[in-house]
Amino acid sequence: MSYTTVIGLEVHVQLQTKTKIFCSCVNRFNPDAPNTQTCPVCLGLPGSLPVLNQEAFELSLVTALALNCQIAPFTKWDRKQYYYPDLPKGYQISQYDLPFSHDGWLAATAENGVRRKIRIRRAHLEEDAGKNIHDESGRGSDSQVDLNRAGTPLLEIVTEPDIRSAAEAKSFLEEIHLLLTFLGVSDCNMQEGSLRCDANVNLQLQDGSATPIVEIKNLNTFRGVEAAITFEAERQLQEYEKTGRKLGDAGVEKQTRGWDAHRGLTYAQRGKEEASDYRYFPDPDLLPVTVSAERIASIKTSLPRLPAQRREDFESKLGLSTYDTDVIMNQGPTFADYFQQAVEVSGNAKQTANWMTQEVLRELNEKRISIQQFPMPSGVLGSLVKHVVDGEISVKSAREIFNTGMHLTFQDVPSNFEGIPTPPPSLTPSWIQQEIATKGLKIVSDTGALDNAIAAALAESAKAIEDFRSGKQQALGAVIGKVMKQVKGADPKTVRELIIQKLNS
Ligand SMILES: [Zn+2]
Repeated sequence: MSYTTVIGLEVHVQLQTKTKIFCSCVNRFNPDAPNTQTCPVCLGLPGSLPVLNQEAFELSLVTALALNCQIAPFTKWDRKQYYYPDLPKGYQISQYDLPFSHDGWLAATAENGVRRKIRIRRAHLEEDAGKNIHDESGRGSDSQVDLNRAGTPLLEIVTEPDIRSAAEAKSFLEEIHLLLTFLGVSDCNMQEGSLRCDANVNLQLQDGSATPIVEIKNLNTFRGVEAAITFEAERQLQEYEKTGRKLGDAGVEKQTRGWDAHRGLTYAQRGKEEASDYRYFPDPDLLPVTVSAERIASIKTSLPRLPAQRREDFESKLGLSTYDTDVIMNQGPTFADYFQQAVEVSGNAKQTANWMTQEVLRELNEKRISIQQFPMPSGVLGSLVKHVVDGEISVKSAREIFNTGMHLTFQDVPSNFEGIPTPPPSLTPSWIQQEIATKGLKIVSDTGALDNAIAAALAESAKAIEDFRSGKQQALGAVIGKVMKQVKGADPKTVRELIIQKLNS
């Protein structure tokens, strides 16, 4: 039976603030020293009072506006009550019926390559819980609780069920990741749980019915999102064909499932709670927040150019391919900035993109450094590319100069060095000119010098000439080599043409 997969995502983003959302504990991933970043507020001790971290609210506003959301002029905090060892207060401070933002959208790419707007129902701010650490060795040791994460600011972004395939869900999450990276509001470290999501999945079947909704919890890799949804869709179809149970049937509840990445399957966890199970009520310890139209307008004007706009800049204005654009964008905002600055100097986007996606990326990977640590300033790379674009030096010579620059920087850096090597002060546009001059890399268009060198080479290559005249094309190689030795930087193609001209005259 054919079907359509219907998917809605709940994305959780840990915000990169200095301190936690309602106390002054440091907000940092620190699993090695459990329960060291805690205080009476995030431990939920009696008598302690929370105070909203303005930075967390500011970063949330920035993100919601970048997601094209409406900002509520008035928003409040609610207690979501449940018991779990990683939540010592017995409730999580969240936002229930008056989230600070709603009704936005973000475009994602469907399987057929088409970009579609995925509507965002709401984005609200809440606190993260701590972490339960269970003994997985099978020896049955006690579980432990680490509350370092308790009170970390968490932005929850909830989409409408607009997503129609596992690939589109993956693309949506990648777009969110890119957006957050460009905004600088989260470190987006998925291994450390800074970006994770739950997926609500069911199938709209050909016969008009729908399968019961399943929520897959805690997906924290792009591949995991795609694989879990693909598996779940197939499982739901088989289940429906076996039992005929469908959405709306008496006794059919929403189910929560986990994702086992090793075995590649989802597994039943528990029946899904309804909102009423949590007995939400307004938190009496926190003041509601009002947001003025002026504040919204001021944040809107200070937003950086967003990934979708920058993609448009690269493809439409600079004429880059979608592939090159994606490679550059996926390296993050600093890489994209570097590229744009280099293009301003080189005047050629395509060639600069080639250098960025090949030479520069290779260096970054080999040296395990970020573009922030890359020793060659953007203007210098741009200048190097410009020499090639202007036909002054060959690509091969430019590579030689580039590699010399890297060698000068990294030659004395020990292999276990962790930091930023100091680039030699000489890595400047005038250094490039010096390199071209001292190594004689300039392509020689002065035919006078070439003519003399060719005449001299031909004079001592009687055998090669004879071979060439009798049809051996490759015999000219030796003559070209002699000329190149005399005139460094000569273009071999031009030399070859000139030799043939001379032999024919
Ligand atoms: Zn605290």
